[in-house]
Amino acid sequence: MISVKEALTKILDQIPILGRERRSILQVQGRVLAEGIVAHRHIPPWDNSAMDGYALRWADIQGASPKNPILLKVLSDLPAGRIFTGAIGAGEAVRIMTGAPLPSGGDTVVPVENTEPLEKEVKILACPPKGSNIRLAGEDVRSGECILSEGTVLRSAHIGMLASLQRSMVSVYQVPRVAILSTGDELLEIDQPWEEGKIVNSNSYSLAAQVMECGALPIQIGIAKDLPGELSSKMREGLNSDLIITTGGVSVGDYDFVKTALKELGAMNFWKVAMRPGQPQVFGTISGKPLFGLPGNPVSAMVSFELFVRPSILKMSGHRQLFRPILPVLLEEEVRKKVGLTYFIRCRFVKKEGRYWAITTGGQGSGILSSMVKAQGLLILPEGISVARAGEEFKAIVLDPSIFQTSKEGYLSLFAPEEKN
Ligand code: AMP
Ligand code: MG
Repeated sequence: MISVKEALTKILDQIPILGRERRSILQVQGRVLAEGIVAHRHIPPWDNSAMDGYALRWADIQGASPKNPILLKVLSDLPAGRIFTGAIGAGEAVRIMTGAPLPSGGDTVVPVENTEPLEKEVKILACPPKGSNIRLAGEDVRSGECILSEGTVLRSAHIGMLASLQRSMVSVYQVPRVAILSTGDELLEIDQPWEEGKIVNSNSYSLAAQVMECGALPIQIGIAKDLPGELSSKMREGLNSDLIITTGGVSVGDYDFVKTALKELGAMNFWKVAMRPGQPQVFGTISGKPLFGLPGNPVSAMVSFELFVRPSILKMSGHRQLFRPILPVLLEEEVRKKVGLTYFIRCRFVKKEGRYWAITTGGQGSGILSSMVKAQGLLILPEGISVARAGEEFKAIVLDPSIFQTSKEGYLSLFAPEEKN
């Protein structure tokens, strides 16, 4: 039996990072960039106007005010998207729109609000500081700058940046295809007629959802009967994917053949991790593809996935950050445990006076899915202790990021007008 830490370290050491592929930037939200992006030009490419107004020479408008308007000759009207090929000379101005390139000779833009247009001239009614209302070339991005580094998890602003650099395609890490195989003679498929004594195969579904939550692609390969030959042939089918998950058949029962099949097919790395739920489980690789033999009990399967498979899928997908947020929490009620096993207690979180408290969500049996349904996280009770006392601080894995969301009242109060001081 090995510790959670040892198991996770061994597993991650053996997880390969998948190859790259080129994809449209509309298909890469949430995926990991597999190349560095270097700007091939400045953004903005040239100095341009930040306002609708008049581009002019600052030296010409010294002392301009409503009482002392300064008259300039208007050379042209310059909408965004056009270029003025001439130059602004002394006593001249160009009517310019937001985004239009600043004509040569001009060094300042006076907004329309501070002007009064005449037929071919304009009255300038203010003298803002030199260089006002001009966005400088390269002030956003400099040509040659590495603007997105390899390993970036692509979010909306990154997509916008790629678009503004005219990069419609980028290289990203491949999405792992994850084969899911349930094992057990007792299992009934979701749409089969109900039968006395059978158990509905729910694991294939909870695991598929967990796979999708990681951004990967689940591939259901069905149910294998508890027969060694059937198991190994189904496992081989899973080799078309990047990673294989099985559930059930990993204990020491007469029908638990996953270990045998894995030994037969390749290397079995370890089985049994010092944790609860989820103690019996196997990990190995077949032709370089990782195989996780998760327990059959519904909660054990989900918790083992959370601890070992999720970070593995993220690593395969090119992610550098593999782990969930961890929250320091105070324990509401005493929990007794077995020394030598790390416990993962299904809990929800309640915030009281600025501190989070962990409250167990009900029965902690490995088949009690309803307490997993209610859980917002997994409280970690360390291997070495035999009792966790009420009021003590522990760490919890946050499964449900919505715990950090804000109520409508709380949110609106953020925008209350500040009291004047
Ligand atoms: P096993 O580890 O194969 O002995 O399975 C332990 C228990 O987990 C079984 O008796 C079932 O109650 C349950 N179980 C196994 N596989 C599944 C599955 N695919 N879906 C739901 N429950 C399962
Ligand atoms: Mg079984």
